[in-house]
Amino acid sequence: MSSGERVEAKIGITGRVQGVGFRPFIYRVAVRNGLAGYVINLGDAGVEIVVEGEKSQVARFLEDVRLEAPEVSEIEEIISEYKPYRGRFNEFVIDKSQSRGRVASGIYPPDIGICPQCLEDMATPGSRWYEYPFTACAWCGPRFTSVRALPYDRERTHMHEFPMCMRCRKDYHDPMDRRFDAQGITCSVCGPEMSLYDASGKPIEAKDPFKEVAGYLLEGSIVAVKGIGGIHLASLATRDDVIEEFRRRKGRPYQPFALMSPDLGSVKTYARLDVDEERVIQSWRKPIVLLRKRHRVISELVAPGLDTVGVMLPYTGIQTMLFKGLSEPALVMTSGNKKGLPMATSNEAAFDELGGIADYYLLHNREIVNRCDDSVLRLIEGKTAFTRRSRGYVPDPIDTPLKKGIGIAVGAELRNAAAVATNGKVFMTQYLGDTDTLEGLRAEGEAIQTMRDLLNITRDPDVIGCDLHPGYMTSQMAEVISRETGVTLVRSQHHHAHIVSVMAENNVSRDEEVLGIALDGAGYGSDRQIWGGEILKSTYGGFERLGHLENLPMPGGDLCAYHPYRMLIAGLSNAITGDTIRDITENHVEEALPHGKIELEVILKQIKNHDVLKTSSSGRFLDSVAALLGLAYYRSYEGEPAMRLEAFAAEGNPELVNHDVEIYQRDGKYVLNTSNTLYFMSKILNKHKKQDIAVFGQKYLSDGVSEMAIRASGDTGISIVGLSGGVFVNEYITKTVLNNLREAGLTVLLNTKVPPGDGGTALGQACTALESVM
Ligand SMILES: [Zn+2]
Ligand SMILES: [Zn+2]
Ligand SMILES: [Zn+2]
Repeated sequence: MSSGERVEAKIGITGRVQGVGFRPFIYRVAVRNGLAGYVINLGDAGVEIVVEGEKSQVARFLEDVRLEAPEVSEIEEIISEYKPYRGRFNEFVIDKSQSRGRVASGIYPPDIGICPQCLEDMATPGSRWYEYPFTACAWCGPRFTSVRALPYDRERTHMHEFPMCMRCRKDYHDPMDRRFDAQGITCSVCGPEMSLYDASGKPIEAKDPFKEVAGYLLEGSIVAVKGIGGIHLASLATRDDVIEEFRRRKGRPYQPFALMSPDLGSVKTYARLDVDEERVIQSWRKPIVLLRKRHRVISELVAPGLDTVGVMLPYTGIQTMLFKGLSEPALVMTSGNKKGLPMATSNEAAFDELGGIADYYLLHNREIVNRCDDSVLRLIEGKTAFTRRSRGYVPDPIDTPLKKGIGIAVGAELRNAAAVATNGKVFMTQYLGDTDTLEGLRAEGEAIQTMRDLLNITRDPDVIGCDLHPGYMTSQMAEVISRETGVTLVRSQHHHAHIVSVMAENNVSRDEEVLGIALDGAGYGSDRQIWGGEILKSTYGGFERLGHLENLPMPGGDLCAYHPYRMLIAGLSNAITGDTIRDITENHVEEALPHGKIELEVILKQIKNHDVLKTSSSGRFLDSVAALLGLAYYRSYEGEPAMRLEAFAAEGNPELVNHDVEIYQRDGKYVLNTSNTLYFMSKILNKHKKQDIAVFGQKYLSDGVSEMAIRASGDTGISIVGLSGGVFVNEYITKTVLNNLREAGLTVLLNTKVPPGDGGTALGQACTALESVM
């Protein structure tokens, strides 16, 4: 040994360093560098390492730790402190003495996609993991979906029924093995098993169930496949007739289906990816990434009328095995749920709820403890825009400047997620789907409780946040909790919650004011009208409405969301007479409205009613443009008309349509005129390509709200603008608004950690609620 200066170093590492094989990694790097000492878990304080050795060895050790850390780990900070050498240790050890009891908040990782080493084990004949679909290690496998309670021990996970065999036990205790201390380890000798059933739930004997399933799929069957966070429905993606039948059984005529491809090469045969998309789709989080379609390899019916398709890669051994006997570029892999219900997770629920849809069931005997749908996102300028944040991301916390108190927020109502806040961090629950049913509400209650259990929160929260909308079932649930526990209830205006969500995830300080542009379908306004195209001056605690889209009548309320042509007529009525509307709609109205001309007359009467509901929704404006262009006369799923419009507009040139943004002031607020614009578009229908008009509609909205924000910035001196609301998953609108505001010298904040849509509102509600008790 050389005779460099010897030291003792105490090193603290914070970040995501637990549940991801970090201590055995430290062990191996320490041993390799000839150091003695120990590593220990410190609950939410990260890990502590004490090493003895030459100063140069310690330096190399620290460098290796930074460079070679497991992919899933995330090092926030390394603090090292040097002391005189005392010669206290003979070897390096992993000290487990404190690790169990002290596992606390914020350290539990999301589910991790199967790692390359495990895939290699599965591909190695003779290995006890050869073709074994539950293969996992300390670096990969189920985490969030597997755990019932803390501390994180095998008995409290979905592995409790599967005691380790001798060899697994040996690996588990060997710090040099990558399965060291991994609660999820298992093998073909001791672990769970797959089983196959027919449509009636009768078991099918099969030596190799995956081979059987490949055969069924190739015949055109629909197969329910149990994974780690729920049950998927799988089918061929290349045959129109199969998908047509699938949609008929599921009662989903147009909603886009997600795809799973065996590898990146297969994805590239039907979709275009840039470098960021390649990176994210292959990351350990394994989300569904919305990609631009190319070539007609897969059926057009997978995502009808859209120019994107959602794609993911296999993230479990089960899915890897599914592709073994197939040479398909992709399979449809959509959540196995009955319309309006959360995704099925148990075998019983599969038979119960997917009966009539699935022809076969490929299930297993391991429990799914926490339901977790696949996450869905797209990349805009390389940044994440979630439509659904769930598996692979939950329960990663979001740091906020609201450092005190415990808060719970129940979110909005559709495509919802709840939030639990503690110690300055907000933990969003997994995607809950629609919480406007008792089943959905029950799922939400369970998800909140799970999050509290994982965070060790046993006392009542200090405050609970909900939406201002008195009719939301989530608001009513929050009221009941508040009444029963005496916990303060704070109601957030919907769009203010959107803007606070973008402020919080960007760590805007508590004394800062931000201008928010909130664009979405609908939210309950402070004036009891329906808002959705708003310029709000915001702090965490409150807001002032500085501008909005023109208030248009909304005859029949929600009917306008389902029948966009109704909204178009309502919009036009603010600009022109009934007779002109009759002329314009003459040739389309029979097709566009369920009751044709009769309905048109009813609508024209309803509009005149002075207590007709009014809306400033940007979603409804985009719907109207889609209806005018004949792209959507009925909304079969949330966001459909606007999504079809975006796809159609991709081919258009906005510069070919000339029409100035029209902003006026009313009651001290800026108002963006939309009715004259709809009329203008109706007049140029025969003079321009429809694609050009489509993109003009999006541009008008983008330029209009940008201009209102720029004027509001001039009035107030505020130079930070936050963008939020479901419309900001639209790539064209997001980019256009971003460019406009940047050109005006403003700083722009986006939602990249939570969805800009309603799946992110609970973050805003939680922060506003906490601010009220700070
Ligand atoms: Zn692994
Ligand atoms: Zn085993
Ligand atoms: Zn919203």
